[in-house]
Amino acid sequence: MACVQPSNEIEVDLPALRAIYRHERDRRVRPDGEGQFLEVSDRLAGFGETDPYSPPVERAPISEDIDVAILGGGFAGMMSAAHLKQEGVEDFRIIELAGDFGGTWYWNRYPGAQCDIDSYCYMPLLEETGYMPKEKYAFSPELFEHCKRIGRHFGLYDKALFGTLIRALRWDESIKRWHVETSRGDDIRARFLIMAAGSFNRPKLPGIPGIMDYKGHSFHTSRWDYAYTGGKDTNQLTGLADKRVAIIGTGATAVQAIPHLGRHAGHLYVIQRTPSAVDARNNKPTDPEWVKTLKPGWQQARRDNLHQAVRFGLPDDVQDLVCDGWTAINGALAQHVGKHMRGEISTAELEAARELEDYRYQEKLRRRVDAAVDEPELREKLKAWYRFNCKRPTFNDDYLATFNRDNVTLIDVSDDKGVERITEKGLIAAGREIKVDCIIYASGFEVTSSIRRRLGIDVVEGRNGRSLYDHWKDGFRTFYGYMADGFPNQFFTGYTQGAVAANLTLMLDHQTQHIAHIIGETIRRGARTVEATHEAVEYWQDEMREHRASNDAFFAECTPGYYNNEGGALRRSYVGEVYAPGVAAFNALLAAWRDRGDLGGLALDGVAAPAPTPSTRNDTKASANAHIPAP
Ligand code: NDP
Repeated sequence: MACVQPSNEIEVDLPALRAIYRHERDRRVRPDGEGQFLEVSDRLAGFGETDPYSPPVERAPISEDIDVAILGGGFAGMMSAAHLKQEGVEDFRIIELAGDFGGTWYWNRYPGAQCDIDSYCYMPLLEETGYMPKEKYAFSPELFEHCKRIGRHFGLYDKALFGTLIRALRWDESIKRWHVETSRGDDIRARFLIMAAGSFNRPKLPGIPGIMDYKGHSFHTSRWDYAYTGGKDTNQLTGLADKRVAIIGTGATAVQAIPHLGRHAGHLYVIQRTPSAVDARNNKPTDPEWVKTLKPGWQQARRDNLHQAVRFGLPDDVQDLVCDGWTAINGALAQHVGKHMRGEISTAELEAARELEDYRYQEKLRRRVDAAVDEPELREKLKAWYRFNCKRPTFNDDYLATFNRDNVTLIDVSDDKGVERITEKGLIAAGREIKVDCIIYASGFEVTSSIRRRLGIDVVEGRNGRSLYDHWKDGFRTFYGYMADGFPNQFFTGYTQGAVAANLTLMLDHQTQHIAHIIGETIRRGARTVEATHEAVEYWQDEMREHRASNDAFFAECTPGYYNNEGGALRRSYVGEVYAPGVAAFNALLAAWRDRGDLGGLALDGVAAPAPTPSTRNDTKASANAHIPAP
């Protein structure tokens, strides 16, 4: 049962809103689409490939043979390692560009950085490590510390190669291993590879003319320069007291950082192209009395409850354990999907009900702007005119009021589809030159660009020198999302072709368990290679076609952003394909596969077990415009 009732009393004029949404979308679509962004390589590498948080440590190149190379030391990499250990596999390395574990929470240390998913669900391995988060929504330092805790608890530090960038991955058939080449001159020959680089790991920059001309200070939010701003560990950004600062972007990251910048900068210019819709945060400390009531297994139960609430809605007799902005709106929307799946309402009725719910929710958020912002003209600029989930939902209690400050100026660049130009001294935006001492890019990450750009690895070559980038040029082709034919002993985590959850760590936990199981089984069966057969990949393509959540029509109408390839033509690989029946159904499918024990669809040392047969999961077939919570 949802714990917050939808805003049924809010009147909306649907035809008028549809027209506004369409108009606002159309005036933002750029002909260059995602081509407008720059990769942080070559001359721009300093924005992403350097580490402002840890001094470089010299070390000699390594030449070694190991069982498993895990590429990435964030949650996916650490959970892979923990599950490998549970499978009895100890001979692995975790290779990571950063100077420590943490991934997202190593890099994103900007002031105010916080995970907006309930921390008791999001922070993995709480029961295993005996840790209880301090608050319902954890801030970055606590999240980073938890990553280090997992590293210590599972003895992962001895296995880590930090400060190391992967340059090339090449399968060597003669030794049945992958050569892992790195920025440190290593040649690591690994039997198995787990790709755990994350989905938001590569910063991107807006392709604003003149970006290299700027002579002031600049950095990306995921490489925050506390030496310049001051305030490391305190968010007291005293170094900015006499500085004119511009922040480009008003997405989920900027919404969290801007209240701090507003409090401390001499003057802050917020460069906004599209406003975020900002709901209340309502963070609160962990209640020790509630903690005393928890029984073993509580975390998994809570995570499952959150996923069910957000994805399909909770039945009336099941309590919403998380009870927040995510479960309220997603739960309300999901209830209609549930009714549709049970045949209680038609597709047209589903669409109508969802649209009304969605428009009312967005209208509620526009009224939050009216309540928080003093100046009428400013209020209008800060209102979001698009459907819920067209952009990442955001939650913050201080963001909107920041614009009442005298030292904060909102620069709306929607008319020009972005900042016009960057100059030596600042930027030209909304028809005026703004001289600033510092430009902060809150411009997001490579999410929908080519797979090569997203991975940031120059070469990935499987059997017969076949490039993964060619193999997947038209989108992912995998068996259950984890393996590609022609790429033996290589496993993928993250968004490919499987079930997704708004709580990313739920998805990663199941993925890495499954991968560790296959590696463990391959080793136990004495095989050197394991590979998805072509037949198995074809089987999964058919299954994905049958059960894919088809939200393309919804996103095609959305204001541009990374959810819809910047308003361009939708591609299968935008953030991966979503298995509509959801995480529970997907995991049941994989658990049944594991229980059969025949490794169906995989070839061990070239000997294939028959691929699974198509499922008959018609009850959960994707509906048009299926409800998929945002990643
Ligand atoms: P986004 O990609 O969401 O936002 C980028 C921002 O830069 C947008 O406001 C965009 O405007 C703006 N921008 C890009 N180019 C230009 C330009 N030329 N001129 C002016 N503005 C420009 O990145 P974020 O870092 O904010 O968020 C990325 C993701 O990280 C989130 O979606 C979320 O998944 C994750 N995240 C999660 C958090 C959590 O709590 N779990 C917190 C923060 C981030 P426009 O919208 O018009 O394109």
